[in-house]
Amino acid sequence: MRVNQYENGVVIAAASFFGQEGDEIAQQETADKMQELLSDIVFYKHKVALRALGTENNPTQLDGVTVTGTSGGDGGAGSLASGISDAKKLFKNATMTVKNWEKVEEMIKKIKNDCMGGELFKSLESSFGINQINIQFAPGTKSTFDWNGNNRTITLGTGADSDSFLHEMLHAYQSTSDGGNATTATFEKALINNEIESRYAEYTYWKRHPDVVSIHGDWTGNEVGRSIRELNRYVTPKGTIVTGISNDALDSYLFAGNNSPQALLENVGSIYRDKNGKSRYDYSRVGVDNFKNINKLSKKC
Ligand SMILES: [Zn+2]
Repeated sequence: MRVNQYENGVVIAAASFFGQEGDEIAQQETADKMQELLSDIVFYKHKVALRALGTENNPTQLDGVTVTGTSGGDGGAGSLASGISDAKKLFKNATMTVKNWEKVEEMIKKIKNDCMGGELFKSLESSFGINQINIQFAPGTKSTFDWNGNNRTITLGTGADSDSFLHEMLHAYQSTSDGGNATTATFEKALINNEIESRYAEYTYWKRHPDVVSIHGDWTGNEVGRSIRELNRYVTPKGTIVTGISNDALDSYLFAGNNSPQALLENVGSIYRDKNGKSRYDYSRVGVDNFKNINKLSKKC
């Protein structure tokens, strides 16, 4: 690909493609690839426009594709890809396809329109700055957040909806909290507390957005889901304690007995115990303190 010029906020680049004149699939593939390459240097919204250069009578010029990238604005006619601006503020992935970036952007749009999600996005933006969280897709519905040193990665299941994305973004937020003193060690020690908070946030988001298809169905299909849903008897969607409920009662619900969210999560995955078999539940977090991140982010709910 050749970047020809940069004028008035517009990048003009050209590439040839291996296709016949009028081969729209090859043109599209070329344009996708070019947009992907340009996305590293064009940070804001960019638009791709295909232009057939030359005329039928002058075929040597026909196998050209021009990609036009603009900063901001809505782009002009002939745009093939919608703008990807918010996704690229927070996330990075040098090889992700334009289609997947669009998927990420679409979900972020929904999340930003949510009373908690909007605050979450803003807070992540101010704590991480540009392009600091890795993002990728993996087959299936399972999504994860991995934190290793300064490396944070959100893996989204291809079958996941924005509620799962919000869940993983809240983990990223948890990794910056504890008064800014969170470390991978404190995060891991409280892996179950963090998971309960993220799942409860996911549940309350789903309740606010009936169009979202949860991987937990309606949260009644299995014991873990039910135990999270039932938290609404103790904790409000704003992360405050329900009137008349004590922190002791909430703690009993959270970790006492085989049907507590803590015990049920321990059965879900081996990551919820350390190598000595000890539960990764931080008991120093008392009652509603386990929902302090939701509380901080839900003032508008
Ligand atoms: Zn989680």
